[in-house]
Amino acid sequence: MYIVHIATELAPIAKVGGLGDVLYGLSKETAQNHHKVDIIIPKYDCINYLPLKNLSVAHRELWSFEGPYRYNNTVWSGELENLNVFLVETHHPNYYFSRGMIYGCPDDNDRFTYFSRAALEYLFKAGKHPDVIHIHDWPTALVGPLYKDMYIPLGLRAGGVVLTIHNLEHQGKCALHNLNRAGLRGENYLTPEKLQDPGSPTEVNLLKGGIEYADFITIVSPTYEKEIKTAPGGCGLDETLVKNQNKLKGILNGIDETFWNPEIDPYLVKHYSTHQVNTPERLMKVLEGKAENRKHIRSHFRLSETDAPIVASVTRLVSQKGPHLIKQALFRTLEKGGQFILLGSAFSGPIEMEFRNLQKQFAKNRNVAICLDTDEALAHLIYAAADMFIIPSLFEPCGLTQLISLRYGTPPIVRSTGGLADTVFDIDTATIPIEKRNGYSFDFPDIKGVNWALDRAIECWFKDKKKWHQIIQQGINMDFSWRHSISEYLAIYSKLALRQA
Ligand code: ADP
Repeated sequence: MYIVHIATELAPIAKVGGLGDVLYGLSKETAQNHHKVDIIIPKYDCINYLPLKNLSVAHRELWSFEGPYRYNNTVWSGELENLNVFLVETHHPNYYFSRGMIYGCPDDNDRFTYFSRAALEYLFKAGKHPDVIHIHDWPTALVGPLYKDMYIPLGLRAGGVVLTIHNLEHQGKCALHNLNRAGLRGENYLTPEKLQDPGSPTEVNLLKGGIEYADFITIVSPTYEKEIKTAPGGCGLDETLVKNQNKLKGILNGIDETFWNPEIDPYLVKHYSTHQVNTPERLMKVLEGKAENRKHIRSHFRLSETDAPIVASVTRLVSQKGPHLIKQALFRTLEKGGQFILLGSAFSGPIEMEFRNLQKQFAKNRNVAICLDTDEALAHLIYAAADMFIIPSLFEPCGLTQLISLRYGTPPIVRSTGGLADTVFDIDTATIPIEKRNGYSFDFPDIKGVNWALDRAIECWFKDKKKWHQIIQQGINMDFSWRHSISEYLAIYSKLALRQA
């Protein structure tokens, strides 16, 4: 089959969070299963070109439209391992992708609707007819309506469109004129069965359009799929999702086994194998490996070298992630005699201010390290060095950080929601067999919940090493690669591909 992803992130060259990781991991696994995969993303000025090979111009003079105007684009192609990557460089006077960032501009709606149309224009002009066009979240959701109402009539032929919802919170709400600019007649789309926002009838909702027009929709975990069909979790689109539930499926994300592998991870100071850790000797090797990385990170952050657990968090600092609860976890860890490391991507605003103040407050404390940055290398080292990993999310579509920390032998402590509920099972309270439990969890995202789970984890670390090692071992031996979920994606792709035949 031939799959084309149209997306706004791709790890490791253009990554903000999990969406980038998923594009990379899912596409690699699809290609490993002998299918052809192209990925089209914008040519941001902040792309990391190092992993891209054979970068060259694939298409010059790709004219695309915005309202009555046409603008020139150059499409570049490169290889990222077994993937063909296409970068759309626009020569639009607004410099849409030269902003030093991927998201966060006031004109994000314009930037990504422009990209959605240019990407389809490229498929059309290059004469490509994929079996599946796979789009992701609100930024490329407009590809669905554009493909069906504009490009099929023009002659572009694909088997169908798959939309993956990675996070329902952001929906791309915008005005009629945004659709006009993309080349659709806006007023025709402001209807309940098309792009009209259910809660605000004068507004356009791009993600809703993606849902209505996609042939199939995947949600990144089974529990999140259930949650978003209810009013509390549906962010206003619950009824739309219920209406479309016949084409909806929750499929758990995986992590790429090469990118996230402590045995070969280039960012670790000591490698350790997490393959089949089923003997005391193999577990000992894991513990030794982690100890070396821990020593290094303590010296990197000038933390004191002491017999205390390191609790870590690697996260975007946004309200979804429960920043007030991350702060609480920091205070509680210190009270209980532990150390805390936070690597947080800060986006300007009150949350960033709060954490900058916290950073100042703890600047001289040798049990706390707060790094407000996005740093892939440091993130890898933290997963390996930490003893436990806290994720107190208010909601979590899938979450990858718990899967990574499990693989690195760092038991997660999570709020049981979305994908976290599907992957982390409390060692003391879960209802599944004890040998399948792998961390700690709490139900309500409040201070009591965080304390309850964290206290038990820290106490176990100090007082019951046998149980602690059992948790590490059980977590490490779980398989959260793409191996399982890929068959579900391929089944969906194949059904659509049949239409292409
Ligand atoms: P989300 O996509 O909501 O941010 P996920 O758990 O799905 O959350 O994915 C997060 C990904 O982003 C992981 O690969 C994680 O390591 C990475 N990440 C998050 N924050 C940072 C940071 N500050 N620096 C480096 N990597 C980060």
